[in-house]
Amino acid sequence: HIEIRNVNKSFGSHQAVHDVSFAIERGKLIGLLGPSGGGKSTLLRILAGLETPDSGDIFINGQRVNDVQPQLRGIGFVFQNYALFKHMTVFDNIAFGLTIRKASKAEIRARVGELLDLTGLRGFEQRYPHQLSGGQRQRVAFARALAPRPELLLLDEPFAAIDAKVRKELRTWLKGLIAELGITSIFVTHDQDEAVEVADEMLIVQQGRLEQQGSPLHIYTDPRTAFVAGFIGQSS
Ligand code: ATP
Ligand code: MG
Repeated sequence: HIEIRNVNKSFGSHQAVHDVSFAIERGKLIGLLGPSGGGKSTLLRILAGLETPDSGDIFINGQRVNDVQPQLRGIGFVFQNYALFKHMTVFDNIAFGLTIRKASKAEIRARVGELLDLTGLRGFEQRYPHQLSGGQRQRVAFARALAPRPELLLLDEPFAAIDAKVRKELRTWLKGLIAELGITSIFVTHDQDEAVEVADEMLIVQQGRLEQQGSPLHIYTDPRTAFVAGFIGQSS
């Protein structure tokens, strides 16, 4: 269970997040949508602890985590620009979050093995990122994020740099993976079709404000604001 309450964040005179509150039930996959500059990445960065809110509270499973360091929040993230470690093999990339937690060699080997199977990357463990396709690289990024068994997975346009066909395959794969693991996830995308296909629930943000939260069906049949009606109406 994830909850944020009355979160505000400004950069200089620009308010990027404006009194945002929402709660997410355990195991749900949430699609976070809205125009460019609306505050989506900032919200994820605040949840992850990479950005400090000016005010407001963040709870993970009932515990207030505002003062908890990013590595200790139990959050995994896959960001478009949060690249793999180039000088490390696939194995070492996936193992990273376990190595920094000082897991034993045997534990690391077992867990990385599970993730190689889960992500279909068996046989690739000794390769370096430049020896992989874009889709394979993002699967390594997923494996790395999942290795420490996070409570919450944050995905900021993870497939933005990947071509349409592979992207479709990846989103189907991701939906299955998340359902299988039952991990609470927030998925930012510009692609409404993608959001409708993968999300249990959508969050629509604009200019730092949360416009609506609800199932895709609810949002499409009962948009709560003129903005939401217009935004979903633009869908091709
Ligand atoms: P996009 O869809 O383009 O990724 P977004 O919804 O993720 O957009 P954010 O990156 O959260 O938007 O940015 C929200 C606003 O905050 C923007 O106006 C942006 O310029 C501003 N902003 C974000 N990070 C910073 C920063 N570190 N310093 C100054 N301004 C920032
Ligand atoms: Mg963004």
